[in-house]
Amino acid sequence: MRTYLSILIASFILISCQSKDTSTESSVSSSEENKQDTTPNFGIVIHGGAGTILKKNMTDSLEAAYKAKLEEAIKTGHDILANGGSSIEAVTATINVMEDSPLFNAGKGAAFTHEETNELDASIMNGADLNAGAVSGVTRVKNPIDLALKVMTDSDHVMLSGQGAERFAQEQGMELVDPSYFYTKKRFESLQRIKASQKTALDHDDKKVSFADPFIKDAKFGTVGCAALDKEGNLAAGTSTGGMTNKRWGRIGDAPIIGAGTYANNATCAVSSTGWGEYFIRGMVAYDISALMEYKGLSLQEAARTVIQGKIPKLGGDGGIVAIDNEGNVTMEFNTAGMYRATMNAGGELEIGIYKN
Ligand code: ASP
Repeated sequence: MRTYLSILIASFILISCQSKDTSTESSVSSSEENKQDTTPNFGIVIHGGAGTILKKNMTDSLEAAYKAKLEEAIKTGHDILANGGSSIEAVTATINVMEDSPLFNAGKGAAFTHEETNELDASIMNGADLNAGAVSGVTRVKNPIDLALKVMTDSDHVMLSGQGAERFAQEQGMELVDPSYFYTKKRFESLQRIKASQKTALDHDDKKVSFADPFIKDAKFGTVGCAALDKEGNLAAGTSTGGMTNKRWGRIGDAPIIGAGTYANNATCAVSSTGWGEYFIRGMVAYDISALMEYKGLSLQEAARTVIQGKIPKLGGDGGIVAIDNEGNVTMEFNTAGMYRATMNAGGELEIGIYKN
């Protein structure tokens, strides 16, 4: 009986060891397979504004300067993603590079209001939990996208405006600058030209001039934005702008409006808009692209095309978007003559564009 029992125990141990081995083997091979299947994909896409950007109006050196800055910005975000950083970190750092450059209508190069001040807007959204932060009408915040991020991470709110937003920035120990920091000759002269053209039109045509005036309309481009997918599969998007030149009465565009200027949802895509803000708010552009994917099953490209080539021009607006979906597919769709843009994938392939191809 004893021998019988010992044999039984020994064979039980043997069988369980064998089955352990096979299960380990199979888990090794399946995890190898998984590794191949799930090589983390990531990617990033940016814009520096859409509008009547024509080759004939551009000097070679200015074109080179734009391309170099776009490349610097996108590589900043790409490095973060390649090293395992989050899409939120990549979006913020990438936008910072463009905010600090006078080339774009955001941060340092912000457009002037009618009152010759600079009022900046920005927003950011995290696709993982649909958390978001936004600021509008700030006049002393060097990098408005950083403040939008703080609103998202360190306040109970989604959107803060004007002086309140700046008090919050101060409490958070953020860098505030004198409003004169935002002065650039180019943007100031744009404002003067627009004011003069408005005056002429009013004097001679007795017509009310609005943003529909082609010259005034084109005074808006230069907003910056970024959308990214990180190795964890998390999407994020952000947008930062000085708004439209000659804007009045505390006008707020689409850039700080979650769903219009910025949207990110891990279930679909991350989008940043640029263009005639009033129409992008009415069209809920960024969210509409995500919703077309979520509820209608459209691809990112189909959704972006539907909104940018169909819905927005039908309303009378113009502009573009950059977006990336949760598989790393990218689109840069615009209905204007040009859009400063760049994208870089996980393999490090870089694409930079300015005009319509
Ligand atoms: N969308 C921005 C606004 O309306 C302007 C732009 O994209 O250049 O404020």
